[in-house]
Amino acid sequence: RSPRRLVIVSARAPFVSTPNGIVRAPGGLISALLPLMRRARGTWIATGADHDACDTSELPFRVRALSIPSSMRAAWYAGASNGALWPLAHGFVEVCRFQAEQTRAYLDVCRAAADAAAENAPPGAIVWIHDYQLALVPALLRARRPDLTIGFFWHIPWPAAESLRVLPWASELIEGLLGADLVGLHVPRYVRAFRDALDELGITHTSDGGSIVVPRGSRAARIEAWPIGIDVEGWAKLGRDEDVAAEAARIRADLGGGRVLLAVDRMDYAKGIAERLEAFERLLEQSAEARERVTFVQIGVPSRETVPAYRELRQRIEAAVGRIQGRFGALRRKPVHLFARSFESTELAAYYLAADAALVTPRRDGMNLVAFEYVATRPRPNGRLLLSTTAGAADVMPEAHLVNPYDDEGLVSAIEHVALAPETPGDAARMDALKARVSRLSVEGWASDFLARLSQVTDERVASR
Ligand code: UDP
Repeated sequence: RSPRRLVIVSARAPFVSTPNGIVRAPGGLISALLPLMRRARGTWIATGADHDACDTSELPFRVRALSIPSSMRAAWYAGASNGALWPLAHGFVEVCRFQAEQTRAYLDVCRAAADAAAENAPPGAIVWIHDYQLALVPALLRARRPDLTIGFFWHIPWPAAESLRVLPWASELIEGLLGADLVGLHVPRYVRAFRDALDELGITHTSDGGSIVVPRGSRAARIEAWPIGIDVEGWAKLGRDEDVAAEAARIRADLGGGRVLLAVDRMDYAKGIAERLEAFERLLEQSAEARERVTFVQIGVPSRETVPAYRELRQRIEAAVGRIQGRFGALRRKPVHLFARSFESTELAAYYLAADAALVTPRRDGMNLVAFEYVATRPRPNGRLLLSTTAGAADVMPEAHLVNPYDDEGLVSAIEHVALAPETPGDAARMDALKARVSRLSVEGWASDFLARLSQVTDERVASR
């Protein structure tokens, strides 16, 4: 039978307009969803898109960019989404600002997205809604179109019940999500936190293996863990590319031939960039060997600069880099390099190859794809991965060097270990194991498996009527 019609709803559109014309938006998620969209000949509804990038007359599917007034867009995106839900989910409760006007804008944007989905979805279609900016869409859409199969993926951590208590609209958030037939979270830990939230709110539920089933009248919502992946083959191919390897060798030579540490993040307080720099600074204080031999490259992509907490962070990061340079730099040696800009994947791959260790030490992270990409890019099982226990990726990469990023001394000694400990056969064994794990986490597989599961869940519901 022909694939069921698919509607995707997300804040970001699959295309963006650049000075060089309209190009595919960056990121593995978009590249995984595009082929599915082409096959399903569906509609992609984007709430945060620019209109120029949505002329898809040559494509077998449609892109609809919603017209949202800029003040409403700011209140929804910079306000309720990135000033409230994001810090809440990442355990930064003190950073959260809950403002009624922003909450209203959030509801309005979700309603506009739900209306657009209701108007564009053929009978019985599948609608897949993405992420925390659009969490109320499932219930709003369900109310208008009970015939649809609705999936939702929450791409960030699920907050602890204690944190969720401070959200004035916590119960609306949960009810919004429960409008879906299937809600995906990255790892079982987040599914357990979701269960705690249901308990707090007194919402009846049962368990079915690792998943939660919440009865809603004649149907049920299921909450399950679906760890996302990356374009494994794409990154491996870059890792085997001669030009990329030559560029990696140049980077190593330019850095003076010592040990190279790498971190790659959006400049976000949840990524622990300032704390990582401070830990590196303490390592330089303590270790003459580190002062002589270790160079730390931090790629920091500017992000969300209309949100006050992000502007302050950038200053803190730049101050730390300046201080380290001032204390430990020399004419011919810079212990730390900060690139405050975005790199193309080819360039990024060269840095991945060049690095003796990747420091993936976010304070909190839904998953963290950089950890996967560092591993997938390597043609040989060399290099070390330092990974926070508080990143979702830690749950699927137990062979990484795991560290609690809130443990100051622990972080310093973990950085010292991955930077300077003599190589042992255990290192290659770890990297081999990680490569095997990452190769099973392809984003295409993730997307098609999630959709298959979504169809299965609703078929079961229909059959049991
Ligand atoms: N990335 C990029 N250019 C850069 C830095 C990062 O394209 O200069 C990409 C990187 O390859 C990865 C993504 O941005 O796929 C970051 O994903 P992650 O899950 O690590 O963090 P997020 O930014 O989604 O919180």
